[in-house]
Amino acid sequence: MTERRQCAHLQGIVTVKRPARQVCEECIAIEGTWVHLRTCQECGVTLCCDSSPNRHASKHAKATGHPVIASAEPGERWIYCYVDDTIAKY
Ligand SMILES: [Zn+2]
Ligand SMILES: [Zn+2]
Ligand SMILES: [Zn+2]
Repeated sequence: MTERRQCAHLQGIVTVKRPARQVCEECIAIEGTWVHLRTCQECGVTLCCDSSPNRHASKHAKATGHPVIASAEPGERWIYCYVDDTIAKY
């Protein structure tokens, strides 16, 4: 098994941003529901994952060009780059 190298985006993350609150900030505005939460490492907003109906985190990444998210789930310690489809533990 070959381990994929981290991309420059992931390598550029020095301190991983954790969520301020355990909610999707866009779902609470529309009274939506979510499955898992992800925190944008560029601006710190916490949004829902691709298993959630509204997929706010990937929409945010596409709309803003912010490439890296971290899992906002308690106990999960990984970051992910949308541009390079690369994941890293921290
Ligand atoms: Zn990347
Ligand atoms: Zn959401
Ligand atoms: Zn962002």
